[in-house]
Amino acid sequence: MNRTERRTTPSARPQFWRVALRTCVIAGSTNLLFLLIFLAVGSPILAWVSVGSMTVYAIAYWAIRQRKNKLGVGLIWSEVVIHAALGILLIGWGSGFHYYLLVFIPALAVTLKRSKAIAALLVLWVLYTGLFVMSELIPPLQPLVSRAALDGVNLFNLTVVFAMFSYLALFYIETVIEGQRALRKLASTDMLTGLKNRRHMTEVGEAEISRAERFAMPLSVLLIDADHFKLINDIFSHQKGDEVLCCLTKLLRTELRQHDVIGRWGGEEFLVLLPNTTLENAQLLAERIRGTVKDFRWQELLKDELAVSISIGVTQLLPNETLNRLINRADKALHSSKANGRNRVTAVAA
Ligand code: GH3
Ligand code: MG
Ligand code: MG
Repeated sequence: MNRTERRTTPSARPQFWRVALRTCVIAGSTNLLFLLIFLAVGSPILAWVSVGSMTVYAIAYWAIRQRKNKLGVGLIWSEVVIHAALGILLIGWGSGFHYYLLVFIPALAVTLKRSKAIAALLVLWVLYTGLFVMSELIPPLQPLVSRAALDGVNLFNLTVVFAMFSYLALFYIETVIEGQRALRKLASTDMLTGLKNRRHMTEVGEAEISRAERFAMPLSVLLIDADHFKLINDIFSHQKGDEVLCCLTKLLRTELRQHDVIGRWGGEEFLVLLPNTTLENAQLLAERIRGTVKDFRWQELLKDELAVSISIGVTQLLPNETLNRLINRADKALHSSKANGRNRVTAVAA
């Protein structure tokens, strides 16, 4: 997934709202704690700053709920910068208020395009080091009463920033894993029917062959092809043809057992893997599927003009056989079903 996609995928957007709203709630609550801390350590100005910050986070929360995300995010970032600068100016670098600015580093790198991110990070560096130099040149305007109080504030800020980084790291890794899962699904799924696609069926087929050999269990396959499907497209439309394929998929699914695997092998062709199933049982299942498709009330979808039928080729895995050879034999059986008039099942043992 490239950077632009990550920023625009629909699944990433709800995540953004959730994170932004959660940030407002957490930051607002943190400022409530600041208010209590600064009242306790005797720094009324910073206590008032905390009240102002809580108000800013309440407005940012409202803005994000209203989808005014630029305003919301702008308010959050301004609050962090101003609060950090005021904290350092009033009680000094030792307060640790500058830690909050470091949280911008991953946030900017992830959300901005590369050139803008580099420029923003440079500005951040200038701001950060500028505050440090300032704190070296100008003594704190309203120092806390004791060194212990300053260390307490520092420890509190360090803990909050630790928690923020941990949360950010976990959030990003979850997003990446979620994205990978979605991509894997996309790469193995047929978009029209939602079935496994040919590529994935090949992988599953090979795995099923290994399993069947390892446990000395039978494995059978069905190759199913819709009869005269071209006619459906020609008489009705390609879209109607798509609907018929989806309907066929549902019918096939209802007839299969939990461990059977079905995939779309080609245009109007389906492959079914039947683990632990002998040729005889596979043939019985194929007959049942053929009957279900034939008896389905197709007139609701295709008026009274056409009914859909399927032809099926059935075969069972032979010792030391490859997937290719297994499917080729099923294909030959399918061709026999077509040659013998369609709407029928042909099973071949070897
Ligand atoms: P047969 O009984 O011999 O299988 O005849 P057929 O018409 O089904 O077979 P043929 O191979 O001549 O034509 C297959 C048709 O299936 C042609 C193709 O346009 C159509 N088809 C393949 N994939 C799709 C699809 O995704 N949607 C639709 N609507 N049609 C498709
Ligand atoms: Mg066909
Ligand atoms: Mg075909």
